[in-house]
Amino acid sequence: MNYHMTPDQFREEGKKLIDWIADYYEQVENYPVMSQVKPGDISRQLPDSAPESGEDFSTMMKDIDQIIMPGITHWQSPNFFAYFQSNNSFPSILGDLLSSGLGVQGMLWATSPACTELETKVMDWLVDLMGLPAHFKSTASGGGVIQDTASSAVLAALLAARERKTKFSCNKTGDNSGLTAYISTQTHSSVEKGIKVIGLGTDRLRHIPVDELFALRPELLEQQIQRDLTAGFKPFFVCATIGTTSSNAIDPIKTIGEICRKYDIWLHVDAAMSGTAAILPNFRSHFEGLELADSYAFNPHKWMFTNFDCDCFWVADKAVLIKTLSILPEYLKNEATEKGAVIDYRDWHVQLGRRFRSLKLWFVLRHYGANGLRHHIAKHIDMAQQFAHWVKTSDEFELLNEPPFNLVCFRHKSGNEFNKRLMDSLNNEGKIYLSHAVLNKTLWLRMSIGQTQTELKHVQEAWRLIQESANKSECTPE
Ligand code: PLP
Repeated sequence: MNYHMTPDQFREEGKKLIDWIADYYEQVENYPVMSQVKPGDISRQLPDSAPESGEDFSTMMKDIDQIIMPGITHWQSPNFFAYFQSNNSFPSILGDLLSSGLGVQGMLWATSPACTELETKVMDWLVDLMGLPAHFKSTASGGGVIQDTASSAVLAALLAARERKTKFSCNKTGDNSGLTAYISTQTHSSVEKGIKVIGLGTDRLRHIPVDELFALRPELLEQQIQRDLTAGFKPFFVCATIGTTSSNAIDPIKTIGEICRKYDIWLHVDAAMSGTAAILPNFRSHFEGLELADSYAFNPHKWMFTNFDCDCFWVADKAVLIKTLSILPEYLKNEATEKGAVIDYRDWHVQLGRRFRSLKLWFVLRHYGANGLRHHIAKHIDMAQQFAHWVKTSDEFELLNEPPFNLVCFRHKSGNEFNKRLMDSLNNEGKIYLSHAVLNKTLWLRMSIGQTQTELKHVQEAWRLIQESANKSECTPE
């Protein structure tokens, strides 16, 4: 008895599935962007136990259409403007499919040399393409690795920073007493989570106040470091952000970097969402000071046409990272590793096993070329600037700030409750999807423009809908 799907069945169903996905992208605009189901609606339609006998693929696809699709929020809709974009592309989907097809486990160079060597090459390409510090290259002191998420990247950075500060003793003794870390009040929650994971205790994480543009105030960072040193603490880690989640604020990386050098503190720079903008030379001034960073991460799975998951993480000194995370049990020993001639990426992050993620990034880079990427990213930023202009010149709405990249934070002038109702009514109607941020107790609507299929007409229609909805009775001012 053979229960496996045969290659012929796979060919047949696979081709149908590719057609299904292509159809989906052609029609994605017609779905309500935010899923309209209620909690439990999907679960209720699914059986309580797994099937005893195997089923046809076509039966499964019927359930996809009938049960699963109503529970999908359409991140790939050109009318998705919430959170951060997560833009996908066909070359990326094909790269991911190929990665699944090859089924490679790239934990060591030896377990699939191409998986490691392509990743190293692609990460080195990106250093040049995005004008990043040359020492991030694998041919220099540093190197890059693809992590699943920015959260995993910051966790690896925290661990390396801790080892460097404790002269590589903490991994052995577990003694992290007195270490302190620094973020701004606007830093992404993944750093706090990382602090929990490494067992430091969130009391040792200092939240530094921000200025009127929500960027970390470096003079207050230095004062806090000095207070901690006087009190006998050991400052070891700072995370600065280029493009904070709530408002796209940009921390002064150069000044923060100089402070970190002065006090021998690891600087991690998180540009998860906005890092893609560095592909445009005229936006690189926002990245000034990156040469002082010990580690840096951005997510092609947010804004570079690469499907989740794909976070690019570089370190300035790979030896520290590898020494921090390296483990070599007998069952992983092999000649290539022992000769030291290769990279074993399992030493560059927390997990051992790893997917062949560089394939999708390689396909994206080769399909679009640098020109294609620059064209589309510049277009997203232009559309955001256009939207910001409409807001600025309207009587009813106001802007939080001049958007540096592609995220526009704005609000109706009628107060928090009104804006919340406006957002909920728009999202429930399903034609567009927005999210919000609260800054200094004020609720702002966030319009993140950068989906693969978003064109100016979608942004224009969104602005029309927002104004129309604001004029409707359920949104009358308090
Ligand atoms: N950092 C910033 C600035 C973000 O905006 C986000 C996600 O929104 C993250 C980190 C976390 O990203 P990930 O889901 O890749 O961990």
